[in-house]
Amino acid sequence: MNNLIVEQANFIDGKRKYLICTNHKGMALIQPILEKLLSKNYSFDFVFIGFDSTPEQTKNNLKTWLQNQKMGSYLYLALSKEELKNLRPLIEEIGFFEDEVQYVGYGEMHSKVFCCRCHSLTQLKNLEIGSEMKCQNCHILLLVSDYYSTLYDAYLGNIANL
Ligand SMILES: [Zn+2]
Repeated sequence: MNNLIVEQANFIDGKRKYLICTNHKGMALIQPILEKLLSKNYSFDFVFIGFDSTPEQTKNNLKTWLQNQKMGSYLYLALSKEELKNLRPLIEEIGFFEDEVQYVGYGEMHSKVFCCRCHSLTQLKNLEIGSEMKCQNCHILLLVSDYYSTLYDAYLGNIANL
């Protein structure tokens, strides 16, 4: 997931329709895209998530909105990295492929690493696959693998330097 989130939006030309979903903070990230769309007179839909929207409401509103879109639409989501991580399963469930969505994120993302020795979870900011970290419980040095367990919502940490 970390690798899927970009911090700067890239304009993808030539799509039939563009869908943009953002919030107050995400606006700055998506502004260049909006300007491109307006200057080219392209067709787009825009959804703004207000401060008072709960995660549940956001999910429901997004689902309804996206399910009513035609095939071939290109989606920009400009939200906090945490929100993007939480919304991704929904976006995939609705049927958007990886190359039809751009996740543009701000802020930090917390991910967990599962220690293969003591089976405890260590929370990390902005985790990087292939990097080394210490298990907070048994203090062994772990190598963060790209294996992600949906059961633990965590990446598997293998023992480093064996
Ligand atoms: Zn451990």
